[in-house]
Amino acid sequence: MPDCLFCKIVNKEIPSDIVYEDDQVLAFRDIEPQSPVHILVIPKEHFASILHIQSENFELLGHIFQVCNQLAHEFDIDESGFRIVNNCKEDGGQTVNHLHFHLLGGRKLAWPPG
Ligand code: AMP
Ligand code: ZN
Repeated sequence: MPDCLFCKIVNKEIPSDIVYEDDQVLAFRDIEPQSPVHILVIPKEHFASILHIQSENFELLGHIFQVCNQLAHEFDIDESGFRIVNNCKEDGGQTVNHLHFHLLGGRKLAWPPG
């Protein structure tokens, strides 16, 4: 999708600190980390939000969560715990309209979110 920041990151037109990549998924460090571990896990294919996911994409979604699981172990937050967040649209705080999951950990996270 032209003019999509995360599509540009997928296409390596914009540099990012990549921590995982395969043919379907890219994971990179958030540029403004909110916790010691703050990784964005995204599908390489452009979906504007979780609302654009359909049944044919369920396998991809499962794979994304599997990558989150793997990264949680790799970044040593599997024992302490972590949070996977998807912000959707304005009230959810979504600022980049390319589906992404925040993997946050390395400190005690507050609940409920602000
Ligand atoms: P959201 O508010 O859920 O849409 O999350 C978008 C996230 O993308 C924010 O946490 C930003 O800090 C992050 N972000 C924006 N630009 C970049 C970039 N160039 N590289 C890495 N992360 C970015
Ligand atoms: Zn995109």
